[in-house]
Amino acid sequence: MADSSYNPFTNAQEQFGKVADMLGLEGGARDLLSAPMKEFHFTIPVKMDDGSVKVFKAFRIKHSDARGPAKGGIRFHPHETADTVRALAMWMTWKTAVVDIPLGGGKGGVICDPREMSQGEQERLCRGYIRQLYSQVGPDVDVPAPDVMTNGQHMIWMMDEYEALMGARSPGVITGKPVGMGGSLGRTEATGYGVVYTLRDLLAAEGVDIKSTTASVQGFGNVAEYAAKLYTQLGGKVVCISCWDNADKTAYTFRNKAGLDIEALVTIKDKFGSIDKEKAAALGCEILPGGAWLAEDVDILIPAALENQITPANFGGVSKRVRFIAEGANGPVTPDCDPLIDAAGIRLIPDFLCNAGGVTCSYFEQVQGNMNYFWPREEVLDKLEAAMGKAFAAVYALAKEKNVSLRDAAYMIAINRVAEAVRWRGWA
Ligand code: GLU
Repeated sequence: MADSSYNPFTNAQEQFGKVADMLGLEGGARDLLSAPMKEFHFTIPVKMDDGSVKVFKAFRIKHSDARGPAKGGIRFHPHETADTVRALAMWMTWKTAVVDIPLGGGKGGVICDPREMSQGEQERLCRGYIRQLYSQVGPDVDVPAPDVMTNGQHMIWMMDEYEALMGARSPGVITGKPVGMGGSLGRTEATGYGVVYTLRDLLAAEGVDIKSTTASVQGFGNVAEYAAKLYTQLGGKVVCISCWDNADKTAYTFRNKAGLDIEALVTIKDKFGSIDKEKAAALGCEILPGGAWLAEDVDILIPAALENQITPANFGGVSKRVRFIAEGANGPVTPDCDPLIDAAGIRLIPDFLCNAGGVTCSYFEQVQGNMNYFWPREEVLDKLEAAMGKAFAAVYALAKEKNVSLRDAAYMIAINRVAEAVRWRGWA
C-alpha cells in the first residue's frame, strides 16, 4: 500500500521547484509548468450486471502540450485521486521531454476496481469514459494509453467508442492497442525492457557486471514482469518479487535466494499481477510479508508498483548492500527520501527516465499507424534501445558534469526542453 501521508502532486511540485531553482527558471514559464494547464473531472454512469447503475468518478488532466499533443495513460484504481493524476500528468511531460519525443504530458484515471468488475461492466465504463471526454482527446489533442490495471482491450473499447462518435476510423486516438488492431510489436514489453536498458547502462557506466548482481522487485504487473524477464536474460538474478494478493487484500513477497524462475511465476499470476501462493510454494518460493522485498540483501531494488513506496520511515530497513534503485513505477520514492539515498551512495534512475520505454514505444506506434506500415519486433526494440540509451547517456553525462543526482540531471534536461517550447510558442 502507498503511504497516504504523501501527496504525489506535492511531491511532483517539490521536485520541479527544486530544479527550477537550480536552473533559475522564473516568471511565466515557471508558473505555467508548476501545475496542469487543463483538467477534466467527470462522472460516468455504468449499468452493472445486476441491473443497478453505479456512478464512477473520473479524471483526465493535461499538464502541458507545449511540445506536442498531451500523452499518457489511464489508470483504473480504487485509490485514484485528482492529485495523483495531476502528478502523473506532470511526470509525463518530463518523460516525453527527457526521451525527446514530440509529445506533451497528460494522464487519466477512474476510481474503480476492475478486479471486482465483469468484462461487460469494464467495457461500459471504458465507453462511458470516452463519451464524456471525446471532444477533448484525439490524435492531435491528447492521446491516452494503458497504465495501472488497464490494457489493450480497454484501449480498443475506448477507440471503438471514439470512432463511433466521430463517424470515422481514428486509430491515432489511443496507443497500447493490441497487435493487429493498430498496435506495435514490442509495446507490451517496452516499459519493462526500458527499465532494464537504463539499468544495464548504469551498471556498465559504474563498472558493474550485471551477471554478478541480484535484484528485488516490487510489483508483478506488466512493467515488473518484463523488467524481471529481461534482467534475468541478461544474467541478473531476481531474488524477490512482492505483489498484491487481491483475495487476502495484502501483499506478499515471494523469495528464492537461488533466483526466482520468472517464466514459471508468469504462468501462475493473474492479469493484475497477483501470484498464486500455493503454486508458488510448490515452485520452491518462500512466502514472506509484502514489505520484505525492501529489506532483502540485494544489489538492486526495482520498485515497479505504485507511488510512495520508499520513504524515510522504511529506508532504514533497506539493506546496506543496495547500490542501485531503478524506478519502474511512477513516484515510488518520496522527495524527502532522495537525500538519504544520495547520502548512502545509492545511484537511482528516476522514474520518468527509467520507465519512459512505454511512451517511447507508444510514439513508435503513432509513427507506424500514421504510415499504416508496421515494423518487425526487432526493429521496434532496436529503436527503443537506441532512444533509451541516448536519453540515459545525456542524463548520466550531465549528472557527472554538474555533480548532481541522476534525478536532478534528468529534470534539468526535461524542464529546459519544455521551457524552450513554451518560449518558442510565446507563452512566457
Ligand atoms: N502509462 C505509461 C506511462 O506512464 C505509458 C503512457 C503512454 O504510452 O502514453 O508512461
